[in-house]
Amino acid sequence: MAHQWRGVIREYFDRLDIEKGNPIITLGEGGTPLVDAPALAKLVGADEVYLKVEGMNPTGSFKDRGMTMAVSKAVGHGAKAVICASTGNTSASAAAYAAAAGITSVVLVPEGKIALGKLSQAVAHKAQILQVQGNFDDCLRLARDLAENYPVHLVNSVNPDRIEGQKTGAFEVVERLDRAPDIHVLPVGNAGNYSAYFKGYLEEFNEGVIKRVPNMWGFQAEGSAPFVNGGPVKNPETIATAIRIGNPASWDLALSAQECSDGRFGAVSDAEILWMHRFLSQEVGVFVEPSSATGAAGLLKTVQQGTSVAGKTIVVTVTGHGLKDAGWALKDEDGNEIKPQIVSSRAEEVAERLGLA
Ligand SMILES: *Cc1c(COP(=O)(O)O)cnc(C)c1O
Repeated sequence: MAHQWRGVIREYFDRLDIEKGNPIITLGEGGTPLVDAPALAKLVGADEVYLKVEGMNPTGSFKDRGMTMAVSKAVGHGAKAVICASTGNTSASAAAYAAAAGITSVVLVPEGKIALGKLSQAVAHKAQILQVQGNFDDCLRLARDLAENYPVHLVNSVNPDRIEGQKTGAFEVVERLDRAPDIHVLPVGNAGNYSAYFKGYLEEFNEGVIKRVPNMWGFQAEGSAPFVNGGPVKNPETIATAIRIGNPASWDLALSAQECSDGRFGAVSDAEILWMHRFLSQEVGVFVEPSSATGAAGLLKTVQQGTSVAGKTIVVTVTGHGLKDAGWALKDEDGNEIKPQIVSSRAEEVAERLGLA
């Protein structure tokens, strides 16, 4: 029988901080494709660009890699409920893994700022959802407070189990390429994933599997760019809701990852994010949510500002699936709604409309 991917805990058990005998709550996360993107390589003038397509995870984002660890360990500790603050994807993932574990999930989302696809997932998996009057940072403060004082287990990325699980993305990249890329590019919100990939690469380096760690390039949205501004942003604003975070939870980890990897942080506008969102769909064939296009948008901007990536091999993590926040695909460049034309069922007329006749 062909080998079926067993989820990141079973695939990387010896390299993860989890004890033998701990229950394993998995939905088969990880093992996502590394997709060659020659159109993007050509656009930026690199030798090769690959997309690590994390939308292929069970709930449609990379959050599942960390959630399998966090929920497994919570269950191992006897937790009956998990709680998270979320811009959407963490809640979708927490709700699904809690359902698989047969425990309760509580989700705190910023009022009115969650994409419909993600909210529908949390509802479908029967999370207790509360919209908090405040932004993501307020939700996280509240979730931490509740987890400290009440019998509920925090599964946000301040929980080190999340970052531990997410580092497996780097392992998979190294396995596929048989080396590390020169540059690894990511969108940055709480900077948990940026820090996690660095951790994964560093472990590969320390084991002697790779000769150098890639330069870690992290990109934020201009209205929500604390790493670029050098301090927290009070009222973060961007259409990229997954990275609309003013006070990143993994601040110190991410700064040291940037320093140690000779990496960089940068910011892109919402218009640049949406342009790249369209480019990835139309020219590469990979449909991502807008936040997920931020890394590639930042790569392009960096090149346009004069940094050459000629001869480089680059991996860009695209973090979540396009169907999560599908409305953006149904608008044209000017923001007008796109609607398929209505035609009769006569072949001649249809051929004429399609310009075939
Ligand atoms: C969570 C998330 C991010 C940001 O990841 P951090 O670890 O918070 O930096 C980016 N894109 C998507 C789709 C996400 O769900």
